[in-house]
Amino acid sequence: MTHRVLVTDKVALSGLKPITEEDDFEISSIDDSASRQFVEALSTADALIVRSATTVTRELISLAEQLKAIGRAGVGVDNIDIPAATERGIAVFNAPGGNTVAAAELTIGLMLAVARKIPSADASLRLGRWDRTAFRGVELWGKTLGLIGAGRIGGEVAVRCKAFGMGVLAYDPYLTQQRAVEIGAQLVPLEDVLELADFISIHVPLTDETRDMVDADALRRMKSSAIVVNASRGGVVDEQALAAALIAGEIAGAALDVYKTEPLPEENPLLRAPNLVLTPHLGASTVEAQIGVATEVAERIRVMLRTGDRSMAINSVDLGQTS
Ligand code: NAD
Repeated sequence: MTHRVLVTDKVALSGLKPITEEDDFEISSIDDSASRQFVEALSTADALIVRSATTVTRELISLAEQLKAIGRAGVGVDNIDIPAATERGIAVFNAPGGNTVAAAELTIGLMLAVARKIPSADASLRLGRWDRTAFRGVELWGKTLGLIGAGRIGGEVAVRCKAFGMGVLAYDPYLTQQRAVEIGAQLVPLEDVLELADFISIHVPLTDETRDMVDADALRRMKSSAIVVNASRGGVVDEQALAAALIAGEIAGAALDVYKTEPLPEENPLLRAPNLVLTPHLGASTVEAQIGVATEVAERIRVMLRTGDRSMAINSVDLGQTS
């Protein structure tokens, strides 16, 4: 029996070895999901693998008569209509672990970029200046990292910050004490992270609980020397409040990789705020992570199509519910 897998959104083909190297899998890679060729291939596909560019709508799902699985090469599944997939008995898989290290390393890079003012020093030098006093920074050594969310990525950030000689506080109401010990973090209330940390790094999902969690009040509680980094999800930090806090000097600096609206609109006040490093959602953008997420999702789809095992799906198809 041949399993047809349609791959789009420039998913790293070198990461799809769990299916490309198997004789019972036939892979079609079509990057333009609006093309007629894509729609034709979709009508006979057993599985569809996407990144974030293709929105897998109810309408698209209705065109895929044979579809049994949708794979998202990445973590977020906001671009997939999960209820529509569930109603059709289609299992949805993601790849939660494949980009953990990439996101953790970007976080460390952003912390250092703000602490040592690397982007503005580079821009100044390119303008012909040689200003060594304007860019005096601060060290990570001996400072306190405050994590908001200490799951996969937060945990990797903690381990790396320990190596920089930092102490680690974490606010994460769902983290076990044992896991906190493993990553070398002390579990504390949110107020302690806000008030005691020198670097505050956010690694939570966007939920009703975390939306605007870092708002004007939270920013006011921080040290005036604090540096805030958010490479988790836009919407967790109140962007207007952050821009205002930076302009008023309420905190020393910040770095963001994610935004409430992406791409960042031109009129967003963050673009004019000082001591702020901005990157365009690059957390998972490494060669290794793109291969890693493709491999993770391909493995899940291989198992499902061969054995019918849906236990790794994020939707509970048999019960007709989204888990
Ligand atoms: P994870 O599920 O492993 O960890 C999230 C942690 O947040 C968990 O430990 C959970 O207990 C905690 N949490 C949930 N609600 C909380 C709350 N109200 N207060 C405090 N903690 C709370 O997820 P992860 O893989 O570490 O990813 C973290 C975030 O980073 C996610 O939002 C993910 O989408 C995002 N991410 C961004 C990029 C990027 O490109 N910038 C790349 C990968 C992941």
